[in-house]
Amino acid sequence: MKKTYNNIRGTLDFNPAEAFSFQKVISAAEKIFQRFGYQEIILPLLEERELFIKGVGTGTDIVDRQMFKIEGKDIVLRPEGTAQVVRYYLQNSLQKRGDFHKFFYTGAMFRGERPQKGRLRQFHHLGAEAIGSDSFYVDAEMIDLSLKILEAVGVKEKELVLNSLGCKDDKDNFSRRLKADLTKHKNKLCDDCRNRLEKNPLRVLDCKKGCRSDYIKQAGGHFIDLCLKCKQDFKNLTALLGDLGIKPKTDFCLVRGLDYYTKTVFEITSSQLGAQDAIGAGGRYDNLIEDLGGPRVPAVGFALGIERILLVLGKALETKKIDVFVAVGEEELFEAGFKILTDLRKKTFSADCDYNQKSLKSQLRTAQRLGARFTVIVASDEYQRGCVALKDMDKSTQQEVKIEDLASQIIDLK
Ligand SMILES: [Zn+2]
Ligand SMILES: [Zn+2]
Repeated sequence: MKKTYNNIRGTLDFNPAEAFSFQKVISAAEKIFQRFGYQEIILPLLEERELFIKGVGTGTDIVDRQMFKIEGKDIVLRPEGTAQVVRYYLQNSLQKRGDFHKFFYTGAMFRGERPQKGRLRQFHHLGAEAIGSDSFYVDAEMIDLSLKILEAVGVKEKELVLNSLGCKDDKDNFSRRLKADLTKHKNKLCDDCRNRLEKNPLRVLDCKKGCRSDYIKQAGGHFIDLCLKCKQDFKNLTALLGDLGIKPKTDFCLVRGLDYYTKTVFEITSSQLGAQDAIGAGGRYDNLIEDLGGPRVPAVGFALGIERILLVLGKALETKKIDVFVAVGEEELFEAGFKILTDLRKKTFSADCDYNQKSLKSQLRTAQRLGARFTVIVASDEYQRGCVALKDMDKSTQQEVKIEDLASQIIDLK
C-alpha cells in the first residue's frame, strides 16, 4: 500500500474558493486600515519565547499551555501579534521618531496545545496597534476600526462587549480583593481556578466552567475598584462610542486571556460562533512597553481572527474568474492558440487554455468551469483569414474578430 499524507490536526487547507474569500477579507481590511491611517508591517513567525512570557504573562493559557515551542530552542512560533509589534517598536527605537505610531499586520499565529474542536494550531490574525497615546479617542478609533472592517467584509450579526480593567494600581487592588474574596469560596471553584487564584486571580473571571458567573453574583464585577480617572475615561469612551453610533454591552467581568491589558478591553462576539467565541478582541496595554524593557508609552490594539470571520460568513463558493479562455478547433492550431494566449496575458488579461489538447467540446467545458468571461476559438478556416471566433460566455453570442483587434474587442464588450 502506498502511503498518502494529511494536513496536521488543527491546521486548515484553503481551497481556491476559501482562499478567494480569505484574500477578500484581507483586501477589504487593508482599505479600511488605510482609511484610518494605519501602515502595514510584516514580522517573522519566529520570536524569542521570553518575549511572550514577559509580555503575555505567566498564568495565562497562552504562555502556560499553548506556546508552540521549537524543540530544544528558546524560540516559539508566535502566538499573538501585540508583544511582537512592541518588540519591533523598541528594537527600532521608534519612540525617538515621533510620539505616535500606528501599524497593522496580517498573518499566521500558532498555538502548541493539543487541538480540540474548533481550536486551531495555526490560524490567522488581522491586527492593529496604536502606540504612544493614552487618549480614549484612540480606544474609540480602534473599536470603530475593528467594527468597520467586519462591516466591510459582510459580518452583520455582531456584538461589542466592553469593560475597563483600570490602570495597573486598579488591577492590583482588584486582584488582591478578588483573591481574598474567592479564597473564602475556594471549594466552589474548579481545579484550574484554584490554581489561577494563586498565580493570577483575574483569570478566574475568564473561567469557561462557570466559576466566573458565580463570582459575578457575589461581587458585581470590579468597576467599583477603578480609580476616578479610569472611571471617567470609561464613561467618556462609552459616550464617544455612542456618538459614533456604537452601542457596546458592558461586561464588568470581561478580562481577556492576556496579562498586558489595562483599562479598556473589548471583544466582538457573534451568535453564529456560539457563546464562548469572539471574532476579535483588543484593548489598551499601557504597561507592556515598559514591561518589555522600554520607556513608559501607552498603547492600544486589537486583532480579528480571519478563520472566525470566514466561519461567520459561511461556506465559500466563489472562485476567482478568468477573462479569456483560448480553445483550439484542431490540434495543429495549438501553437497559434498558445501565441494568442501569451499575447492576451501580455496585455494583462487573465487568460488560460487547455494544455491536454482535448476535443473542442471538452475545452469549452473547461472554459465554463474556470468561469471565463470570453472564449476565443481558433479554427483553421478563420485562422487562415487572420481571424478567430470570440464568444461572449455571459450573453452566449459569438462573432468573428481579427486577431490583431482581439484585445480591443474584448475591452469593448466587457
Ligand atoms: Zn485607574
Ligand atoms: Zn473555573
